[in-house]
Amino acid sequence: MIYKRSSALFNEAKKYIPGGVNSPVRAFNAVGGDPIFVKKAKGAYLYDEDDNKLIDYISSWGPMILGHAHPAVVKAIVERTKDGTSFGIPTALETEIAKLAVSMVPGIDKIRFVNSGTEACMSAVRLARGYTKKDKIIKFAGCYHGHSDSFLIQAGSGAVTFGEPNSPGVTKGTAKDTLLAHYNNLESVEKLVEENKGDIACIIIEPVAGNMGCILPKKGFLEGLRQICDNNEILLVFDEVMTGFRLAPGGVQELLGVEADIVTFGKVVGGGLPVGAFAGKSDIMNHLSPDGPVYQAGTLSGNPLAMAAGYTMLKELNNNREIFESLDKKTAYLHEGMAKVLNDANIDHQINRIGSMISIHFCKDPVMDFETAAHGNNPKFKTYFHGMLDRGVYMPPSAFESYFLNDALSYEDIDHTVNALSEFVHELK
Ligand SMILES: *Cc1c(COP(=O)(O)O)cnc(C)c1O
Repeated sequence: MIYKRSSALFNEAKKYIPGGVNSPVRAFNAVGGDPIFVKKAKGAYLYDEDDNKLIDYISSWGPMILGHAHPAVVKAIVERTKDGTSFGIPTALETEIAKLAVSMVPGIDKIRFVNSGTEACMSAVRLARGYTKKDKIIKFAGCYHGHSDSFLIQAGSGAVTFGEPNSPGVTKGTAKDTLLAHYNNLESVEKLVEENKGDIACIIIEPVAGNMGCILPKKGFLEGLRQICDNNEILLVFDEVMTGFRLAPGGVQELLGVEADIVTFGKVVGGGLPVGAFAGKSDIMNHLSPDGPVYQAGTLSGNPLAMAAGYTMLKELNNNREIFESLDKKTAYLHEGMAKVLNDANIDHQINRIGSMISIHFCKDPVMDFETAAHGNNPKFKTYFHGMLDRGVYMPPSAFESYFLNDALSYEDIDHTVNALSEFVHELK
């Protein structure tokens, strides 16, 4: 495959944009080579600047769950644009999407919309601190909650892909209030709670982790966190920016039956436009300004275009709930296909999957936390990534990312993907 024009565009971009990209995970630093530049996308496919057609397994890192340029979503955005694109004054649409989201997600009464997942998580933690009048938070190594200061402590995703899990620029003062636990390890949480009795405002977690590859919570882990929170007046915050409206209409809370006190959203909720949100019971949410003292704001929050895209996306999902089952089946089919090729070739690997999230780590031992995930970040992953790309399959360019399947993907596309792997699987020996 030829990437001549993409490479030229990348060289030009690097002159004016740090690293040539507006978000580090788009660069190919972890796998080598130049990133491809996309010209357009439709359904399950990306078309790059060199006119290569690629099967897309990142779906814009989650949002495009219905596939690219979905007709209903496009129509909603175009129609809405004609009536003005931003007012800074309330619109009826904001209540429509809020009502729909509250009806789909278990355990929430109110929701506030922001512009990104980062903002949602940052605001959720401020709210938890304001509500509990406590300062410290617990997060888990390898979990990513956006790039605000409190979370860039052993963060996953791009933060770890590019070798800076603890970013310079985060002050010691901020860092000392973020306590670090280990995913799937309740004892590590209990120990921190014991050592910091009465000081912990919240535990924030990706209830299914997607930023160190896909990692599932062990049986009883989320229930255990719920119990620890209840026993110690700590709020449980589920970061469902990735999993919300993806793994089920009501996210992980619905799928695995554990309820959080505050839930954050992003990605799917914006239908491909920049949207985040955080939600909870009225008792907690009413602490937000203007009703309460915890300040949070946004000039473009609830933007009409973003709300039109998000509302249409949620409505499509809510009215066609079989999509979740069909995505689960497609992803299982991909899982089986890839596993067979790798098993037949005797390649050590671990495939983790839940619903439409899946990832492969090239290592022997089960991947269940950040440490074990790091074993699969090796030269084999680079060979794998480029082998797939050269055969028209776009996978995430990092072993620390999950794939996101979309509804436009066909079984033929998945067959093509599995065949692509079998063509170069010997190179992974
Ligand atoms: C993507 C992501 C975020 C950050 O969202 P942005 O919109 O990129 O700011 C936060 N938490 C999780 C779990 C995510 O996957």
